[in-house]
Amino acid sequence: MAAWARDLIGQFLAPLRCSTADITSHRPRPNKLHPICKNPKPPSIQMSSKKRKALDDVEQSGRKSQAAPASQQSLNVAASDAHFRHLYDRELDFKQLAEKDVNFAAVLQENGHLDFTEPKAVMQLTKTLLSLDFNLKLELPDDRLCPPVPNRHNYILWLKELVDTSSYEPPGRPACGLDIGTGASCIYPLLGTTQRPSWRFVATDIDEKSLQYARENVALNHLEDRITVLGRQPEDTLIPLRGRESEKVIHIDFTMMNPPFYESEDDMLSSAQRKVRPPHSACTGAPVEMVCEGGEIAHISRMLEESLVLKEEVQWYTSMLGKASSVEILVDKLKANGIDNYAITEFIQGNKTRRWALGWSFGPMRPAEHVARVKTSGWKKVSPPVLAIEVLSLHPGRSIDHAITRINEVMRSLELLSWNWDTDARKGTGRTRENVWSRASRRKKMRDQSTSFSVLSSAAPGSDPVQCRLGFDVAVEMGVSTTTVTVHWREGHDAVMFESLAGFLQGKLKDLG
Ligand code: SAH
Repeated sequence: MAAWARDLIGQFLAPLRCSTADITSHRPRPNKLHPICKNPKPPSIQMSSKKRKALDDVEQSGRKSQAAPASQQSLNVAASDAHFRHLYDRELDFKQLAEKDVNFAAVLQENGHLDFTEPKAVMQLTKTLLSLDFNLKLELPDDRLCPPVPNRHNYILWLKELVDTSSYEPPGRPACGLDIGTGASCIYPLLGTTQRPSWRFVATDIDEKSLQYARENVALNHLEDRITVLGRQPEDTLIPLRGRESEKVIHIDFTMMNPPFYESEDDMLSSAQRKVRPPHSACTGAPVEMVCEGGEIAHISRMLEESLVLKEEVQWYTSMLGKASSVEILVDKLKANGIDNYAITEFIQGNKTRRWALGWSFGPMRPAEHVARVKTSGWKKVSPPVLAIEVLSLHPGRSIDHAITRINEVMRSLELLSWNWDTDARKGTGRTRENVWSRASRRKKMRDQSTSFSVLSSAAPGSDPVQCRLGFDVAVEMGVSTTTVTVHWREGHDAVMFESLAGFLQGKLKDLG
């Protein structure tokens, strides 16, 4: 079958597929095609430079992945992610950018500096980075926010990991994102769809001018079939899943939002004055973009209120935050509403501007430790429960195979819903409906053994969501000098049960340390 035909079929099939995530999170699946899936066309981005060639490979591999075996898909996604993850690790090299882009050379000062107070220069930097690193085109008006690319890219990097790690599916599963307040640039949907060929977006805004430019930017990049731009009224819900838009937007996997941070123009100005460096004038934005009643806390609280109604209809509700103090306030609100599955991250753009992001879920699938918990000190109090516990640091003289055999013996001796060992990844995934490792539970098992047997023990991951109280990985992780065994919490809401399992395994492996 021709590649284009496969793409076309793949794009039609993607939204109809029933994924493991669908099953495990009890998510109601759409019974109709999402309108943005109605007119699938293969993206027609033309690549030119070397980097674009690399991006093309990524895009190609991602599109092929609709039909590729899961292991190949994982490799493609991993290669693509590795490329994007490290794009802005180092300070931007303006000289190099000027060599690659004549438009950028035209705004660079003779001494090699960029004048950040000059709107034209800042806008050109954004355009140049989008073009060179993502092969994206952008048109912006002078009087709207010009997004700094590395900061916006950070949010997408985090989201990819949030979505990937909170599922039993391999990384890169199809997902539909909602970008609330997409701005004139429509930057998040553009970056998200470029990096994840299986992602689609609904992008909303209340500002007519921004909406007009957002639509133009989507068209400029031939992404109309994957990004739907939707005008909203200030009094509408932030998440258009109910009410007058519910016919158009049928399913959303995650929300994202870069809300107006400030409560008033005074608040915005005093924050700018507190900064060591003057604010980038071209990045300051119009009042509609920066200010809303109650500031970011009110805006995110609105999302929280809506999420309390929609619950698991959306797997992840997320937002960026401009003030560290807001994170604590909002986490308290999550806890007050009984939400225990949440994630916090810190974005450090350059060394000056810090931003945070918060995500929460009503579903049982939990993200990875590094995605959900900020490492830097001071964040312990607000962080979600520990998601990974090291249970063994292997003695240098001990064989890894021996440890793997022991882990499998121990796990198979338990009456789990399922236990699957992945030899290549050196990790196993287990699911259980209750604590089956405590002494009391094992004694009960002995008593019952002669009269009954479990029909559930061969269930595949994701096949019995109702009864699963804990899903976990046991991973053998090889570092430069040490090999460790770590238990990762994958599913469920019971932190005590997770810690108990880790304690049990620690005891069983103790002699190998
Ligand atoms: N996402 C863009 C723009 C962020 S500025 C970026 O990161 O660069 C915040 C945006 O939210 C503005 O475009 C503003 O018009 C929009 N906005 C404010 N209230 C909104 C609401 N109730 N619904 C949707 N968008 C809203």
